[in-house]
Amino acid sequence: MEEKRIGVYVCWCGTNIALMVDVEAVSKEMAKLPNVVISKDYKYMCSDPGQDLIVKDIKEHNLNRIVVASCSPRMHELTFRKALQKAGINPYYFEMANIREQDSWVHLDRAEATKKAKALTAAAINRVNYHEALDSLSVEVDPTTLVMGGGISGITAALEIADSGRTVYLVERTNRLGGHVADVDLTFPYMYSAPQMLKPLIKRVIEHQNINLYLNSEIKEVFGYIGNFESKVHSNDGKETDIKFGNIVVATGLKPFDPGKIDNYGYGKLPNIITSVEFEKMLLTGRILKKDRNEPKNVAIIHCVGSQNKNYHEYCSRMQTRFVRNCLIQISLSCMPT
Ligand code: SF4
Repeated sequence: MEEKRIGVYVCWCGTNIALMVDVEAVSKEMAKLPNVVISKDYKYMCSDPGQDLIVKDIKEHNLNRIVVASCSPRMHELTFRKALQKAGINPYYFEMANIREQDSWVHLDRAEATKKAKALTAAAINRVNYHEALDSLSVEVDPTTLVMGGGISGITAALEIADSGRTVYLVERTNRLGGHVADVDLTFPYMYSAPQMLKPLIKRVIEHQNINLYLNSEIKEVFGYIGNFESKVHSNDGKETDIKFGNIVVATGLKPFDPGKIDNYGYGKLPNIITSVEFEKMLLTGRILKKDRNEPKNVAIIHCVGSQNKNYHEYCSRMQTRFVRNCLIQISLSCMPT
């Protein structure tokens, strides 16, 4: 069996990664793993010198597997595969660990982020051991699209695709189109009426010759591969329809947070505590009424229930808070006497 000789490269991405992850420590730790011949850290792996470094090392150290710990594969997987090809080895003997989008950009604790970077990179190293040489193939791609969910996102996607002349299967679980937006009164920021906005879109979907609409229907499983999928549309009346398609748009919407999980707001216990979704539905009727059918004298609105609370949705609104905090830091810095 061929001896595995792995080269590992941990990218700084300037300060994008290096500020939150101890890249040197990651690289040193990876050097101890089985089959790792060399492990290095470098400022910008995707730069020409970064790629040249990989090519040179492959040739000098007879490497046959490469791992780069850097950003999302969506960004540079192809870049590094080309470097492998340039060095004369199969481009699929490559694995990428995302220690930027999935690590340095989303954590605030350097020690923990470094630990995570080590785990992600070690996993990539372990995986690359099992890679096999692959060839690129050309396959026909079915241009038909399955859109799952008939809310505003699903409707918009279906219309865009259908207008470009492609067939669309639009599958909605309930008996109507519109999703949550159908239960909203006015939309931000122009205060357009949501039902008025939806009406012409729904009419277009129903009448569009390229859209096959299935209401009261679900997709339970999908077979195939990118560009060529198959499935069955299960309709509630018991019918099953076989469909073939090449693309899937998942627009299955949202599930409102249940504030009853948090004791101190009284939702579910006190009669006149309602969610914003229930409030919107009431607005659509034109009247805000308490449970006793009388109008309230005052209305209090509590925003962001459960957000940034580690027991519920700690991540929610964090970007906003970070942004505001950074702005405040910037303002205070620019106000400092020089
Ligand atoms: Fe940044 Fe990715 Fe380039 Fe590294 S490879 S410098 S993480 S963009």
